[in-house]
Amino acid sequence: MSDFSVSQAQACILQHVKGSGVESVALHDSLGRVLAEDVSANRNHPPYDVSAMDGYAVSFSDMASATPASPVQLHVVDDIRAGQMPVLSIEQGQAARIMTGAPTPQGIDTVIRVEDTALDGDVISILTPPKQGANIRPLGENLRNGHVVLTQGTMITPGVLAILAMVKQKQVPVFANPTVAILSTGDELEAMDDPIDENKIPNANSHALYAQCKSLGIEATLLGIAKDNRDDLRAKLAEGLKYDVLLASGGVSVGHHDFVRPVLDELGMNFHFWRVAMRPGHPLAFGTTDRGETGGGTAVFGLPGNPVASMVCFEQFVGPALRQMMGHEKLFRRTIKARLQHDMKGGAGRTLFIRVFLSREEQGYVASSTGAQGSGVLMSMALAEGFMVIPAEAELLKAGEIVTVQLLQGMDFQAETDFS
Ligand code: AMP
Ligand code: MG
Repeated sequence: MSDFSVSQAQACILQHVKGSGVESVALHDSLGRVLAEDVSANRNHPPYDVSAMDGYAVSFSDMASATPASPVQLHVVDDIRAGQMPVLSIEQGQAARIMTGAPTPQGIDTVIRVEDTALDGDVISILTPPKQGANIRPLGENLRNGHVVLTQGTMITPGVLAILAMVKQKQVPVFANPTVAILSTGDELEAMDDPIDENKIPNANSHALYAQCKSLGIEATLLGIAKDNRDDLRAKLAEGLKYDVLLASGGVSVGHHDFVRPVLDELGMNFHFWRVAMRPGHPLAFGTTDRGETGGGTAVFGLPGNPVASMVCFEQFVGPALRQMMGHEKLFRRTIKARLQHDMKGGAGRTLFIRVFLSREEQGYVASSTGAQGSGVLMSMALAEGFMVIPAEAELLKAGEIVTVQLLQGMDFQAETDFS
C-alpha cells in the first residue's frame, strides 16, 4: 500500500468513526458539549412588551411637537415596576413612570429615558422626543413560545447555556463523549513514578496525549507503558480495545522490535493504512475492530513514538475523529494565512507541519519557526502558536510568500485589548 496523503488519511478516519450515542447531563456539565436535540422555548420572553429603560411611558403623538423652546408637559399618573401588571390605561396628556423590564401600559407606544426629561411635582417636561417606539422591548424578542431556539449540533458555549437556563433545561441532551485509552510502548520508557535512570527516556507521550484529549473535553484513561514484547503488548492492547478509541504510541515503524502492528493484527484489527506522507508523523497506523457483543468497535491509532510526531498526528487525525464522535460539526483547527518570515524547503512529497510563532503586523500575520524542528524536539512544539502547513508538492517557499497556518490553542487570547 502506498502512503496516504494527509487528506486521504483524514477522510478514511472520518469515514470509519461513529458517535457513541446520546446522554443527558446536568446544565453546568453541558458546557463545551454538543446538543443532541433541538430545544424549543417554553414561554415568551419578554412575556409582554416591556420598557428597556428607566423612564416614562408615553404616547408618541403627545410629545412629537416637543422642542427645547416649547417643551411638552405631561402628567405622571402611574408608577410601574418590573413584575407588576399596570392597571391604568394612559390617556392623552398623561405618562407613567416605568422601570426597566416593567410591562408597558395600555395607551402608550414609546418610552422616554429619565435623563431626557425634567420632573416638577407630578409633571414631566420633554424637550426632545425620542423616535416613536423607542426603548420598548417587544413580547418574544428573546424567546418565542414553541419556536426552536437552539438546534441539534449546536456547541454549548456560555451564551448557549444562558438560553438553556432561560428555557429551564436542568438536564441537557448531548452527544456522548467517546471513551479513550492511552498506551505508550517501548522498553526504554521510564514512568512518572520510576526513579530517574540516565539510560531511560521519560514517558512524555502518554501525558501529552492525555492533555490533548483533555483540551477537547475528554478525560482519557492512561494504560501505562507496554514493553516491546508480544505478550505485554497483547495484554495491554487488548485492554485498550475495550474503549471506543485506543491511542498507542511508539512501536509502529518497521524496526526489529516494533510489534504494535503484528499484535493488533492478531487481535483482529482491520488496518486501513499505516503510513502517511507527512513530516513529522510518517509512521501512523489506523484501524478499527469490531467489539462483538458489546457493540460498536474500537478506532485504533498507532501513533509515532517521537513526541512531536505523536502530538502532530493527534492534532491532524485523532482530534478531528474525536470531535466527530462528540457530534461537533467543526472538526478541524482554524487556519489563517500568514507571510513566511524566512525561506522554507518543501518536504519532497510529504506535507510538512512546521511549528511557528505568529506575530501580527500591519499587513497581517507573519509566521516564523519556533526552532529546531526535529520530531523529538519538544521545545519547538511547546512554544508553537500554530502549525505552518507546507503542501507535499512545494519545493521552495521564499520569505514573504503566503502560507497556511493552523492555530493551536492559546491563540484565542492576547495581552492587550487592541480595539483600535
Ligand atoms: P518508536 O516509534 O517506538 O521507534 O519511537 C521513536 C522514538 O520516540 C524513540 O526515540 C523513542 O524513545 C521515543 N519515544 C517513544 N515513545 C515515547 C514516549 N512515550 N515518550 C517519549 N519518547 C518516546
Ligand atoms: Mg519503540
